Amino acid sequence: MKDLIRSSVAALSGYVPGEQSREPGIIKLNTNENPYPPSAAINDVLAATSIDELRLYPNPTGQQLRQAIAELHSCTVDNVFVGNGGDEILALCTRAFVEPDGNIGYFIPSYSLYPVLAEIRDVRVTPLDLADDFTWPSVADDYSASLFFLTNPNAPTGLLYKQEEVIRFCERSTGVVVIDEAYVDFASADSAGLAVELDNVLVARTLSKAYSLAGIRMGYALGPEPLISALFKLKDSYNTDMLAQRIAMAALNDRSHMQANVAKIKATRARLSEALQLRDFLVLPSETNFVFARPGAVAAGALFEYLRQHKILVRYFPGDRTGEYLRITVGADEEIDALLAAIDECLSLQGQ
Ligand code: PMP
Repeated sequence: MKDLIRSSVAALSGYVPGEQSREPGIIKLNTNENPYPPSAAINDVLAATSIDELRLYPNPTGQQLRQAIAELHSCTVDNVFVGNGGDEILALCTRAFVEPDGNIGYFIPSYSLYPVLAEIRDVRVTPLDLADDFTWPSVADDYSASLFFLTNPNAPTGLLYKQEEVIRFCERSTGVVVIDEAYVDFASADSAGLAVELDNVLVARTLSKAYSLAGIRMGYALGPEPLISALFKLKDSYNTDMLAQRIAMAALNDRSHMQANVAKIKATRARLSEALQLRDFLVLPSETNFVFARPGAVAAGALFEYLRQHKILVRYFPGDRTGEYLRITVGADEEIDALLAAIDECLSLQGQ
């Protein structure tokens, strides 16, 4: 069978997403989904959609949705691209901005999809190690990448880099910098302005997290018109579907609903961070909807397994930089109570 497949594809490992269990009773704190429902206005969109409309192709560029996004960010529609989730936009960037002998950069640790996308394109990677405490590293003067994925706030650490660092990095980059702002709605600052001010910067956003819409697959990019048009040339003919476009519009038109959910999540994030610290975890200050925490009295991998056996899924990234930590999505308050109770059980067994 193997020789039916291109050898470079046969050699790929592929991206491994967090477990998507639908088992009843499971508490899912592993893929940074929002515990609260999206805007109720989406019910009206669904009710007003007749099945007859499904016969027709959607608007190929998501024109109306892009218009709404442009208004939100005070830019023009030519500065906006919509994609089938943020992930599609990241993949398109690797196809648009990297020559076969070019290179892709990102910080270690950051989103584990980036090296996979580079492997798919079969181009070199030039990752930069974050400082020991996961803050901004020192970057050599001669560092350059055809495309750099700058996740801010970062995942899985949850840390937000300082705006001055981000601006300096973008200004001195000779390639394209994609500021991946998947979690920015939970943060205290954003870089959307840079995407239109600088000619080499794109900002990528998603509706999966703050807008509670991971199921529809909708993300967008903001940036200078030449970079945005390059993405348009490469996309599938109808990369976002009609329902997703309409649902996204309804969600963006009801931002106060999203903001109320974000406020609840931030309050739970503070409570969770404090509770973990009381249990002797090192907790990084999170500007996202998850916390990255290092247990003090039990190995992260063992706690991950214990929680899993007790139907609580969190994310564990074994390996050098991340293997002592767990990434825990900030769920609803009851979910966090159950998590803390299970951690207490695990720690008390540990002490016996
Ligand atoms: N960037 C980062 C850092 C992420 O964690 C994610 C979600 N896994 C995305 C982008 C893309 O999200 P989506 O494809 O759901 O829009």
